[in-house]
Amino acid sequence: MTAPRCEAKTRRGTLCQCPAMANGRCRLHGGLSTGPKTWEGIERIQAATTIHGRYRKMAIASRRRVRGQVRWALAVLRATHKKPPRV
Ligand SMILES: [Zn+2]
Repeated sequence: MTAPRCEAKTRRGTLCQCPAMANGRCRLHGGLSTGPKTWEGIERIQAATTIHGRYRKMAIASRRRVRGQVRWALAVLRATHKKPPRV
């Protein structure tokens, strides 16, 4: 039986494979870290790891809402604005 292994990528490109701690990383790859504790710390990490935010929950929900409104407006237009018959 083997202990769970750290799967952090090393500078050689291989897996670290040291024995992992409770959070899945070894003592050299964040195993001792308990993560951000304050809201400021969480915000700092979010800012550091966010690339553009296009796939944030808020952005996706906003796009979905706008598309729904456009779909509804087009349906209303199609229903009320039919082409006049040729005479
Ligand atoms: Zn490691």
